Amino acid sequence: MKPPPLSYRAPETVDDALDLLAEHGEDMAVLAGGQSLVPLVNMRFARPSVLLDINRIAELNRIVIGDDVVSLGATVRLAAVEHDARLGEALPVLGEAARHVAHPQIRNRTTIGGTLCHADPAAEFPTLAVGLGARLHLASRARGTRVVAAEDFFESVFMTSKEPDELLVAADFPRLPGHRIGYSEISRRHGDFPFAGLFLAVRTENGIVTAARASAAGVADRPVRLPGCEAALTGNPLSSPAIEQAAEAASAEIDPPSDNHGSAAFRRGLIRTLVRRQAGRLQEVAA
Ligand SMILES: Cc1cc2nc3c(=O)[nH]c(=O)nc-3n(C[C@H](O)[C@H](O)[C@H](O)COP(=O)(O)OP(=O)(O)OC[C@H]3O[C@@H](n4cnc5c(N)ncnc54)[C@H](O)[C@@H]3O)c2cc1C
Repeated sequence: MKPPPLSYRAPETVDDALDLLAEHGEDMAVLAGGQSLVPLVNMRFARPSVLLDINRIAELNRIVIGDDVVSLGATVRLAAVEHDARLGEALPVLGEAARHVAHPQIRNRTTIGGTLCHADPAAEFPTLAVGLGARLHLASRARGTRVVAAEDFFESVFMTSKEPDELLVAADFPRLPGHRIGYSEISRRHGDFPFAGLFLAVRTENGIVTAARASAAGVADRPVRLPGCEAALTGNPLSSPAIEQAAEAASAEIDPPSDNHGSAAFRRGLIRTLVRRQAGRLQEVAA
């Protein structure tokens, strides 16, 4: 299918992009990697009258590695996240998760901003953003820049707290020093959206978990934190029975959908398995 007639704008600065968003508001759609937006427009599920192509804005394509956070500009591609050696050292879970997203051709186009703003509840990077406690920078001509915690950004299926005149400029991913961090998922085939995915980070001191962060994909209308799972791990050695209690807590605290991919009970079982599997992997990893 082909798109309906559209205007196309491709500014070279964020300032110009914000002016255009202020002018067109809901009639304008930001075009990043286009991997989700273009099919939606072609199938008339999205009906913008103007596309704002942000790919020529050099300042959006920056990777900045700080002591505390890794900042990824909106148009940084998942392929770059996957292959950037500095990122691989600074926050390897980003590359680990990127390798689960679709296939290399799609990762060559997909952007950080696109995957976050598209807000698919089964997607890897929104789940990582919630798990790591990412902070998203949203800019508009009318209100300047505001910083939103990832947990407050994702509202429902494909719904975020971003306003129509806002551009996601960058996302800061905390490096969680001293933590062992991992992401794993279960999907029908490698590269498919997962039935369920799990982000898990733990910090241990003298063999005891002193901090834990967990989030899950595919088990709600948005990526969700798993506070029961985190509490079950904290204060205990990273071994059975704490892992078993964490797996049960995670399975009990989610309220997953039943759909044609699987029942709620099936997804509860997958999360239980993922907690056991991921916690087991983190046992083997040096902090
Ligand atoms: C075959 C296939 C398999 C896939 N498998 C997976 C998978 O396993 N896991 C996964 O997570 N994703 C998967 N995807 C989705 C893919 O990663 C999408 O491209 C991604 O969700 C959107 O990124 P994009 O850069 O292409 O954004 P676009 O399609 O350009 O935009 C998506 C939405 O975000 C908005 N937007 C984009 N950037 C900004 C910004 N900076 N500020 C404000 N709004 C913005 C757009 O207006 C649009 O509404 C798959 C896609 C395909 C085609």
